[in-house]
Amino acid sequence: AGTGKFFVGGNWKCNGTKESITKLVSDLNSAKLEADVDVVVAPPFVYIEQVKNTLTDRIEISAQNSWVGKGGAFTGEISADQLNDIGCKWVILGHSERRHVIGEDDQFIGKKAAYALSQGLGVMACIGEKLEEREAGKTFDVCYQQLKAFAGKFLDAVPSWDNVVIAYEPVWAIGTGKVATPVQAQEVHVAVRDWLRKNVSAEVASKTRIIYGGSVNGGNSAELAKQEDIDGFLVGGASLKGPEFATIINSSA
Ligand code: PEP
Repeated sequence: AGTGKFFVGGNWKCNGTKESITKLVSDLNSAKLEADVDVVVAPPFVYIEQVKNTLTDRIEISAQNSWVGKGGAFTGEISADQLNDIGCKWVILGHSERRHVIGEDDQFIGKKAAYALSQGLGVMACIGEKLEEREAGKTFDVCYQQLKAFAGKFLDAVPSWDNVVIAYEPVWAIGTGKVATPVQAQEVHVAVRDWLRKNVSAEVASKTRIIYGGSVNGGNSAELAKQEDIDGFLVGGASLKGPEFATIINSSA
């Protein structure tokens, strides 16, 4: 089992307006959050400044993507250096929507992660299998392959894994309302931890947070949080509702 502090991230994706985000921030500011949990939210880039200026310091801010290297002539991209400059502490990389809707591959994602880490950002490194891969018995292979692409680059870029959180997000569970069962999630989390033990070190395996994502909500988070190797959550839809997100944050208590 992991020894890291419980970690809950909220991925707002491409949702929100100035008005809805004002309400969400105000709900989060007034929510009672357990002390022993790291909490991070990832607003769309254009609202990061608004959130940074209004949200309690108790919650850190993440981006949902970053460019693969230093900035320059890359229209439409945002660099890790710029995220640092505005006080953003984290970035989500390898999310299934970027892999499977936008078409990013392992190589590109690994490079992005290495660059973000080299600039001091924390990385939520997402992995997870598609439904047909699960049905073909390839869940572990797919996750190992994606981990390898991250880790190969991490190992070149940073000696420390302290800034890495691994998010296991089965693609079939993201935004579908079909949450993995606690047993299904735990099984993959153990496999990820074993992979880290064998391929990196026992210390990294025990301290790295392995969080689950995929239709987590206020009603299913407590059962999932009881699993030995589930060290937190990455939450999409339910992170847009302040009180429900607070319930998820507090679900390990
Ligand atoms: C996500 O996008 O990381 C996610 C887990 O989404 P949802 O909670 O909506 O399934």
